[in-house]
Amino acid sequence: QDIVTGVKNRIRVYPDFPKKGILFYDIFPLFQTPSLLNDVVRLFVQRLQPSDTSNEQQAIDVVVGLDSRGFLFGPSLANHLDASFVPIRKKGKLPGEKYSVSYSLEYGVDALEIQADSIKSGQRVVIVDDLMATGGTMSAACKLVQQLGGIIKECQCVIELTGLKGVEKLPDGVPSYSIVQYE
Ligand code: 5GP
Repeated sequence: QDIVTGVKNRIRVYPDFPKKGILFYDIFPLFQTPSLLNDVVRLFVQRLQPSDTSNEQQAIDVVVGLDSRGFLFGPSLANHLDASFVPIRKKGKLPGEKYSVSYSLEYGVDALEIQADSIKSGQRVVIVDDLMATGGTMSAACKLVQQLGGIIKECQCVIELTGLKGVEKLPDGVPSYSIVQYE
């Protein structure tokens, strides 16, 4: 639990950013204490460790990181799990054949994309981002991974804003985990 407190203590909270009425949680200070990135990744990894470490069937094949702060944690997590890393990006950023899903924002809609050949059917996937608020972004990401036939073992975030009940938006049966929770 000390690790969680250490992480929480390095998250800065900014009222009225990026606009009035929004409370913004800044995760970048974590990266000014190098050991904290390790702690975060270790907590993520712990959740995914197979109960029987000799069972290759249970290993994670792919870590999916969400645009853009999921890219800060995803590759480290993938490295620890000896898994590949795959980005999900906002529309128009990825080349080649893609799958796309639209999701609603506070005002209007946007789309997320994944490269069509990045996940093979039946691969075991973990999705990582910095923060879950309404859950709109994470649930859209789940749909993309499932369209490619990926099996989502867990959605992982550093921060969860529990009052927004984002977890309830996730597809049925998809587990989620956050290190630090705020109401
Ligand atoms: P949601 O789709 O769950 O409403 O919003 C989550 C997405 O918005 C995440 O990709 C996250 O990076 C970003 N986001 C929303 N609010 C915050 C915040 O207060 N701090 C940070 N770091 N990201 C946020």
